Amino acid sequence: MRIFNSLSKQIEEFKPIEPDFVKVYCCGPTVYKDQQIGNWRTFCLSDFLNRSLKLFGYKVDFIMNMTDVGHLFETGADPEGGEDKIEKQSTEEGRSAREIVEMYTKSFLEEYKEMNFLEPKKFTKATEYIDDQINLIATLEERGFTYETSDGVYFDTSKFEQYGELSGLTMENIKEGARIDPNPEKRNPTDFALWKFSPSDKKRQQEWQSPWGVGFPGWHLECSSMIMKELGNTIDIHVGGEDLKMIHHQNEIAQSECATGQKFVNYWVHGAFLTVDGGKMSKSLGNFYTLSDVKQRGFSPLDLRYLFMTSHYRGPLNFTWEAMQNAQNSLKRIYELVSSYVYDPKAEISDKFMKKFKEKLEEDLNIPEVLAVVWELIKSSIPEESKLNTILKMDDFLGLKLQEHIGVEIPKNVLDLAKMRGEYRKNGIWDKADVLRRQVNDLGYVIDDIPNGDFKVKKKF
Ligand SMILES: [Zn+2]
Repeated sequence: MRIFNSLSKQIEEFKPIEPDFVKVYCCGPTVYKDQQIGNWRTFCLSDFLNRSLKLFGYKVDFIMNMTDVGHLFETGADPEGGEDKIEKQSTEEGRSAREIVEMYTKSFLEEYKEMNFLEPKKFTKATEYIDDQINLIATLEERGFTYETSDGVYFDTSKFEQYGELSGLTMENIKEGARIDPNPEKRNPTDFALWKFSPSDKKRQQEWQSPWGVGFPGWHLECSSMIMKELGNTIDIHVGGEDLKMIHHQNEIAQSECATGQKFVNYWVHGAFLTVDGGKMSKSLGNFYTLSDVKQRGFSPLDLRYLFMTSHYRGPLNFTWEAMQNAQNSLKRIYELVSSYVYDPKAEISDKFMKKFKEKLEEDLNIPEVLAVVWELIKSSIPEESKLNTILKMDDFLGLKLQEHIGVEIPKNVLDLAKMRGEYRKNGIWDKADVLRRQVNDLGYVIDDIPNGDFKVKKKF
């Protein structure tokens, strides 16, 4: 497999640390509200990667975290100078921070299932790794990478020579940008909080004791701690949205490598943004869509999954309701065809198509091309039974739940109507043929005419 590595900025041959075994981590949701569809695009990328690796025969340890504390809003030039997302939502909804976290964790997990993502080995929650995070800060402190200010313990990025390798954001080009740093106590604009003290005038709902004082961990820290604990000091692949690359992932690298002295991640895989109606999603434009919005408009989460497949993960994808409609139409067509094929579990899986399918995946997850192979298979002249078994095998990767649509029996009355219509048609009695076609339609089936004058009946989806 070849994959684009954001660190080297090129497509590289993928070589896991251990043969046949891959350690993958993906930055998951902050559970303070429902996830918008842009985040689902990123999570979908992690599922595509996970499923591809499995299809290629690797054993995969896949971990996704859930941020349930410490994620601050950005303010002005400061990426984390704002309020705590969970505490703020708690005030807005009049529920406790714990209730907010529980509620949105639950809805996230339900939606994760609906998107048909493979279960990770573990969903790790930041609050269950507080001790590990404190220990990591202590290690960094011992090694001389931290300093304390009036509001927290900070990581000194000037002490990590490779800072900016991933983001391209170096001390020099930040200084050239010469923006005023809102936090004058920070030694360098890129320094970030490892531990934040609770404010003296206000009691936080989520806070813990630490050697430096009562407070809570900085957001970047949790991913490093959880990765080290669950997967080890060096992992194969780290996935996330491209919006996390500049700061969050750069900081994960800095604190991890300074603590362990080892390389943190071998391959960084970033998914591109999802635009909506040609622009950035925004609350003010009313197009900050969640999965519930998608479902309310009559689309299934798998329609959205199909839409995500139509664009390369590193390329732009513009979400519109029209694009959503097209995705739904295509998926319905696949379901119709799959349900019309004769199912024989012993039928041969086409090596030729499977090979082509895998070749497209192997080349930096070229999923639009993978879909093209699926359609090529559908239109090919190989026997239907083989077609069906091949597409079912492909569905190990596609995750479109094709298995649920096989072996659909067409009721006798529907078949009889279709046959009668066929007769009218052969004899050129078009009006009567049309009436019967509509009747079949109303019963939930469609008639597909085949070139030689024959026809096929399929269930409608
Ligand atoms: Zn992360």
